[in-house]
Amino acid sequence: MSLLSVLKNRVEIVDDSVSSRDLVNRLVTQGPQEEPLHLTEVDTLVKRHYEWLQHLPRVKPYYAVKSNDEASLVEATVLMGLGYDCASMAEVRRMLELGVERERIIFAQPQKTIVSLQYARKHKILTVFDSECELRKIHQHYPEAEVLIRYRFDSKKSKVNLGSKFGCETENESKSLLHVAKQLGIKVVGWCFNVGSGCTDADVFYAAIKKGREIHDYATSIGFKFRMIDLGGGFMGDKGCGIEEYAVHINRALEECYPASEDIFIFAEPGRYYCAAAVTSISPVHGKRILCNENDPLKIEQVFYYFNDGMYGTFYSPRYRNQTLYPIVWKSGGNLGTTYKTTLFGPTCDGNDFFAKDIDLPELEVSDFVVFENQGAYARVHSCRFNGFCLPKVINYMRKCTWELLEKASKSLNPTQVVQDSVYLRNNPQIEVLAFD
Ligand SMILES: *Cc1c(COP(=O)(O)O)cnc(C)c1O
Repeated sequence: MSLLSVLKNRVEIVDDSVSSRDLVNRLVTQGPQEEPLHLTEVDTLVKRHYEWLQHLPRVKPYYAVKSNDEASLVEATVLMGLGYDCASMAEVRRMLELGVERERIIFAQPQKTIVSLQYARKHKILTVFDSECELRKIHQHYPEAEVLIRYRFDSKKSKVNLGSKFGCETENESKSLLHVAKQLGIKVVGWCFNVGSGCTDADVFYAAIKKGREIHDYATSIGFKFRMIDLGGGFMGDKGCGIEEYAVHINRALEECYPASEDIFIFAEPGRYYCAAAVTSISPVHGKRILCNENDPLKIEQVFYYFNDGMYGTFYSPRYRNQTLYPIVWKSGGNLGTTYKTTLFGPTCDGNDFFAKDIDLPELEVSDFVVFENQGAYARVHSCRFNGFCLPKVINYMRKCTWELLEKASKSLNPTQVVQDSVYLRNNPQIEVLAFD
């Protein structure tokens, strides 16, 4: 079966006129389910890709699979001809099995197991290093590898810092590693960095690329020939965020450091940017506890609600990755009444399993729904079955026009061009924000 048919079986294709709000209503109308629901709109990811191509035409996106590996989203990216940033052997294997050419995959893990290194060797996959130990391991298990040097360039304003774990220092350490690689005869063919996930200062990319150019020039001076550069990920992806601001700084740096005349392949590893806005999570209240003032039993101090989703489900990131949650109480009828200090708990016996604390919410009843937008990145992929509760259930939708576009892209030798030329996307680039008035 073709990938197109596989994807078609996974999604429900709806009319172009169906809004995101209609889809939420449709799921809410079915009443409370045992599982948390992940309403996934493939259209949103396709719009992100369109926006990327508009603003960063020189930078090829390699989707960071770890941010959301849901089949519908991954398959849509394959049909549109993206590349892939894989963090593990299993991710590399999955992308190869989906028919992605090895040239479109980077195993962007600076610390690889020996088994995964041997696997990368078998399939000739590009990889990265940031330490002498890794270089020696590569020399032993994958000596003909092509590798990128990963240097540290952290944004001060990112939700998740990666520099505390990965990336060599940009001055002495990068130079000495390049010398070790030279002695071992390892082909270092470029550089990469990662500013951190959920980065809000776009201009950090400018400085990071400038630094890359310096490392590049040093590498050239000792005999390497770099042919690719990798700008990593970190771009915000919530509704209302776009790539344009980042693109200004990236394009300026590229013009200055890597003019188009230079023969260099440029790519980046966006994860969150592609998938965050594509998923809306929907959960019903199934329990409630009202805490009153000890001396004044009529005075409500706080209300606790219990949901089928929590820290062990969708909401790991709000607890541990500085992600802000905006609950939308899905009740029509205008005024929802007085608000109370509220805490939202997950279903498990862990007292730590809450995902919003001391927020102001109107009073809810059992079976009322609460909806959370922007739950596509680092959400379902974190969930586990602690206490026997269900993993989020993914329900995939796609508009007819998006479907026709993917169909056309899949039959073209140049899917990027098909997306870029899409009249539908040109006329409908915006991503709907849910709001209850
Ligand atoms: C996680 C990761 C990414 C993706 O990060 P986002 O913030 O989701 O864009 C890209 N590159 C590397 C090396 C990563 O570890």
